Amino acid sequence: MPKKPETPEPEVKAPAVAVEKVVAEEEAKLEVEKDVIEAVPAEEEAAKPAPGSFDIAAWTPKTSIGAKVKTGEIKDIDIILDAGTPILEAPIVDILLPNLESDLLMIGQSKGKFGGGARRIFRQTQKKSPEGNKPSFGVMAVAGNRNGYVGLGYGKGKDTVPSREKAVRQSKLNVFKIKRGCGSWQCNCRTPHSVPFTVEGKCGSAIIRLMPAPKGKGLVVEPNCAKILALAGFKDVWSKTFGQTRNTVNLATACVDALKKLSTTKIPHTAAEVLGLCDGKLK
Ligand SMILES: [Zn+2]
Repeated sequence: MPKKPETPEPEVKAPAVAVEKVVAEEEAKLEVEKDVIEAVPAEEEAAKPAPGSFDIAAWTPKTSIGAKVKTGEIKDIDIILDAGTPILEAPIVDILLPNLESDLLMIGQSKGKFGGGARRIFRQTQKKSPEGNKPSFGVMAVAGNRNGYVGLGYGKGKDTVPSREKAVRQSKLNVFKIKRGCGSWQCNCRTPHSVPFTVEGKCGSAIIRLMPAPKGKGLVVEPNCAKILALAGFKDVWSKTFGQTRNTVNLATACVDALKKLSTTKIPHTAAEVLGLCDGKLK
């Protein structure tokens, strides 16, 4: 990268001129930022692929699990997830979960004077270096089939599009199985539309508690967590949060932590029928 000539500090001798110069510079900077922000939605529209549009023939697997999936030896993702083998290729998930959908979480904030601070999908940060400011973009994506499988991924890069692709790819690799049921005493319907019992997840100071809700209540959760729960396949959940919930990255991670606790908690087999417990997809 060529070194940019450093802009000299405005002289103190002529204050009026200097102030004007600074204002003009700031306005130019704002213009650039505005362009970046406005350019985002158009890219978003174009880059959303239709579900199930993956071309199997063009894919060359690099791992043994990938080869087995391509030849059709493995037809169920439960075989991979139950064995605990890490998934290292995103196409494996594309093939085994054909109805997979992706969504992006609003983890960033737009800058600027007028109406600044609106939520954005890109978390923009800057590093100061001798050559100038080096921006980098962080994106958080969630993938799920709305039927028992969900994953969260974080991607970071020098530009918006590669970091978003990275996040979507990561979210597919992190797919895991959830447990559903109905633990609501108001409902008692024994169908898997909510969480089977209260769970709590934590990341940093952000804590989220997911509680069973009766049918028809909807997702009473913070909007970003609602995206995760909807893609996992929950329909009715009550929630309560504690700590710094402004930090969306931590809150989303805490939500996924809570969902993972659904599977690690031991449940007596006598309670499974009462709760209408369902592990993974509906049969
Ligand atoms: Zn119910």
